[in-house]
Amino acid sequence: MPGWKNNLYKLLVKSGLTHLSAYLNRHKLVILCLHSLSLKDEHLFWPGVFISRDKLIPILEFLKHSRYNVISLAEAQRHLQGEVTYDYPVVITIDDGWWASVADLLPILEDYQFPSTTYVTTYYCDHQIAVVNVLLQYWLWKQPVDTISLSFNGKDYQFTGSNSELVKSIESSIREFDDQTKMAFLAEIADFLGQDRADLTDRRFHNASYDELARVVQNPLHSIQLHTHTHRLPEDTAGIQREIGINREKLTASLQPPYGVDHLCYPSGIWQPGHIPELEALGVRTATTLDEGLNNRGEHLLKLKRNLVMDNRSLDQLKVTMSGIMDMAQRLKQKI
Ligand SMILES: [Zn+2]
Repeated sequence: MPGWKNNLYKLLVKSGLTHLSAYLNRHKLVILCLHSLSLKDEHLFWPGVFISRDKLIPILEFLKHSRYNVISLAEAQRHLQGEVTYDYPVVITIDDGWWASVADLLPILEDYQFPSTTYVTTYYCDHQIAVVNVLLQYWLWKQPVDTISLSFNGKDYQFTGSNSELVKSIESSIREFDDQTKMAFLAEIADFLGQDRADLTDRRFHNASYDELARVVQNPLHSIQLHTHTHRLPEDTAGIQREIGINREKLTASLQPPYGVDHLCYPSGIWQPGHIPELEALGVRTATTLDEGLNNRGEHLLKLKRNLVMDNRSLDQLKVTMSGIMDMAQRLKQKI
């Protein structure tokens, strides 16, 4: 982040402009997006997914002591539909269902009595192993290489290319392996890259299990909702129905939540206009994107804007985003 930008955010906050803007936008809904808590150095590896405790706590303290009201997604839907009115409403969402988000992040939110919605991808609940592509990216971030070669079960493997090419070709080579064989193969890669095999089992890169998620469902502060089964939302009807259907069925059957599983977060925030009628037909009540901004009352419920909370962004930047001043500046620019 260039220094001048941070200075600008600081100035906008100090001058009281964000305070005024937040007041003018006080009926607009702010949705925040978190993923997981960093337990070691994951926040340095991927600041948009893993947030450090040091960064998170000041944000929660700000929410607690400011005019903002953290409300549940269900209440936010009622607010957007005009059934109730909240001033300065904020919703906290958590993507993917990472183990650390359930084991560490949710208890912190409970300390603040903040409601939350966790959108869970079920493939890695079924497969209690490290999320392969993320763990590989983590190791390659720590130890970048052009080539990985190893022997496994009597076969020689060689992978070459950029980090993302390496990850893709390793993933496709082991796709048909069972979970145990995948982990044994990744242990060989850990050795080749000089990385710690403990990363495979310490669960920093796992999703929570159904048993762990079932405990979350017991707490009325939290809600577990849809994020597709394999973290992708195809564009064809059958693909959409499959991804949402399997995801919903697994969450419902395994967790038996006392509420409907009918709120979706688009995987990686990616959505297409063609998704909307399909989601309506599936009874999806709200869907969140990663398009930054605030939500007006009357906003389309399947195109909700959401703001990523990142470890490498300042609290001042978050205050500016939440105040809606950027939306106002954008609108002004369009008018000129
Ligand atoms: Zn996700």
